Amino acid sequence: MDHQETARILVAGSGPAGLIAALGFAEAGFRVTLIGPEAAGADGRTTALMNPALAVLERLGVLADLKPKAAPLKVMRIVDATGRLIRSPTVTFRATEIGEEQFGLNLPNSVLLPALAKAVAAHSGIDWRKLMVESWRLDAGHAHATLADGSEVSASLAVAADGRLSPAREAAGIPASVRPYPQAALVLNFGHRSEHAFTSTEFHTETGPFTQVPLPGNRSSLVWVVKPETAKELAALDDDTLSQRVEEQMQSMLGRVSVEPGRQVYPLSAASPGRFAQNRVALVGEAAHVFPPIGAQGLNLGIRDIDDLIGIACENRIDPGSRMSLAAYDSRRRPDILARSGAVNLLNRSLLSDMLPAQMARSAGLSVLGSFAPLRAFFMREGLRPGSGFQALTGGFRKQVRR
Ligand SMILES: Cc1cc2nc3c(=O)[nH]c(=O)nc-3n(C[C@H](O)[C@H](O)[C@H](O)COP(=O)(O)OP(=O)(O)OC[C@H]3O[C@@H](n4cnc5c(N)ncnc54)[C@H](O)[C@@H]3O)c2cc1C
Repeated sequence: MDHQETARILVAGSGPAGLIAALGFAEAGFRVTLIGPEAAGADGRTTALMNPALAVLERLGVLADLKPKAAPLKVMRIVDATGRLIRSPTVTFRATEIGEEQFGLNLPNSVLLPALAKAVAAHSGIDWRKLMVESWRLDAGHAHATLADGSEVSASLAVAADGRLSPAREAAGIPASVRPYPQAALVLNFGHRSEHAFTSTEFHTETGPFTQVPLPGNRSSLVWVVKPETAKELAALDDDTLSQRVEEQMQSMLGRVSVEPGRQVYPLSAASPGRFAQNRVALVGEAAHVFPPIGAQGLNLGIRDIDDLIGIACENRIDPGSRMSLAAYDSRRRPDILARSGAVNLLNRSLLSDMLPAQMARSAGLSVLGSFAPLRAFFMREGLRPGSGFQALTGGFRKQVRR
């Protein structure tokens, strides 16, 4: 039997980035082979996706099914709970300040991932091989993946959506040092007595952020970043004691708390590859950037990777994995990825730092943000769509010049 197959686009990895990439390329008219196992086990996390990422899911036809199980994010707050000498004022961002009804939606991964997998399985343009890539061979004209059953898939372009350790990235010869952080995230969902009013609050503590994000009803999700040993201890507490600890940490902001079954601990790390594409391989999602879960950036950035890669592939339909196409992708993604990764890592380090200058810089930055509405609006627009903050500023400037 001939195991040789040829596909224009090969997507390696079937996490959220791989599933979205496969759907996006297929919708753009490419033949797609997706390689990766179906998700096993429950992912108790939720993912806050901002409006531009939701627009991508809408184009892919999956948003309507997700909406009833998601909660809108209308207000986002940062509270300094470090208890340090230099503390920042609370900063509140309201979507209405920039003319939006909501910043985005908070979606349970247990809803998002099956919806994406169902859409991929139903798409006639996608051949989903539910196996691992065992090895890669990259030559001048093609990327070749050998699968666990010995078969081979070849394509002009390989999309590496195979996560933070990305074997495809390694095969392409792109170095990426993965730096483990002295932090882990305890993740759980909880019910609460008072209404959240669609507000997410990020409490900044000396060990990292404690982030509450609304879910439908009087429920919220929690990402609590602490030292790895503390995460283990917290995860081992009985429900009542843990509920009390969560309520205390939130200063009883939402009244009585009751944690739901299902707690997970994620060790945190950071990784920044030297390039974002090379040798027929383009990196998307966590293969391209890993940083701590602060400010809901990870998958939003991953969806922008995919959107840009598809745009460039459509301009180079004959050979989307060519050197020219990959160079265009690398330079288009570089500023956004470096800016987001840099900002998140810097903020995280300033929380952990005992150094007064780092604390003062963070406090001064947040004080200015809290008191100066145009700057707050700039950051909110930039947070949603890179470049749109600048557009709004220059638009406003042009209006003033015309006057
Ligand atoms: C606690 C926490 C909370 C978060 N909250 C948010 C949030 O609110 N908003 C947000 O935007 N982001 C958030 N993120 C980040 C987000 O979860 C990640 O960006 C996202 O999961 C990355 O998806 P991915 O598909 O790139 O990688 P993964 O989910 O790691 O998927 C990689 C896939 O590749 C597969 N794979 C690996 N090797 C191979 C191989 N050889 N062959 C085939 N397949 C392979 C794996 O099996 C896996 O399925 C959060 C992260 C954490 C840890």
